[in-house]
Amino acid sequence: MGNCCSGKADKSLSVNQVVMCPSCQARSKSVGLMTLLHQVKAPLNRSLSDKAYFFCAQVDCDTVYFSLDGLRLNREQVREPVGQKSEDPERTLCYCFDISDAMVSDEIRLTGTSSSKAFVVEQTKIKNCACDIRNPSGRCCLKEFPK
Ligand SMILES: [Zn+2]
Repeated sequence: MGNCCSGKADKSLSVNQVVMCPSCQARSKSVGLMTLLHQVKAPLNRSLSDKAYFFCAQVDCDTVYFSLDGLRLNREQVREPVGQKSEDPERTLCYCFDISDAMVSDEIRLTGTSSSKAFVVEQTKIKNCACDIRNPSGRCCLKEFPK
């Protein structure tokens, strides 16, 4: 993992565990309880316990989070639309700073570079991001940006 945001990751997890989504078999990365507490709708978020959860980023799969003991949470059970699971141009790329895919694409088309991405890079360097609670994946958004 890069230098971004990893410091605040859930300490109870062995980092970067990857297992298959029970719904679509996509490789899904571990995500901390802190992320789910902030992403899952109430009162469902109160029933969560401190165990290993995983985030499925597959666009056409309805499962957002799952655990190894059979829990599956779908799109209806999380608070915000999951950008990773959408192909809508307006989908969110950066949850910390409210940046959409369309915003970045427009910048690249007009100027050849993305000032939004530059801003995110700058802010993550000085640890002003909040990916572990803002991003449904619990991880830094930078890898989601168009190259
Ligand atoms: Zn899935």
